Amino acid sequence: MNWSKTHKNDVLLIAVLLILGGGLALFLYATRQGGGTVRVQVDGAVVMELPLDQDTQVSLGEDGHVNTLVVQDGTAQVTVATCPDQVCVRQGAVRYAGESIVCLPHRLVVTIEGGAPADVDTSTG
Ligand SMILES: [Zn+2]
Repeated sequence: MNWSKTHKNDVLLIAVLLILGGGLALFLYATRQGGGTVRVQVDGAVVMELPLDQDTQVSLGEDGHVNTLVVQDGTAQVTVATCPDQVCVRQGAVRYAGESIVCLPHRLVVTIEGGAPADVDTSTG
């Protein structure tokens, strides 16, 4: 009779399932919630990282090459820029992980890291 062996295996299996389930739930929770990071890169180097859930406004760049980055309501947006094309301003606000605002003339890249996934149904939010 090998009841005890079978029972032990069952306990192991349940434990593994619990760990996997817990890990999956944690993973889903971590990836679904907002509150990502706004990563600011200039010329390929990270110069600033801002929490997406904290409203703030910063001026990036030097005299004559300024982008005003506004973080508000979980979104990041370049509201004012001195670049000639104004592409970064017209891009509007970004909020999902992987989204970015690029200002080519100023070599500025603003990327959302670790926020809500970009494939979320935008009609709900
Ligand atoms: Zn620009």
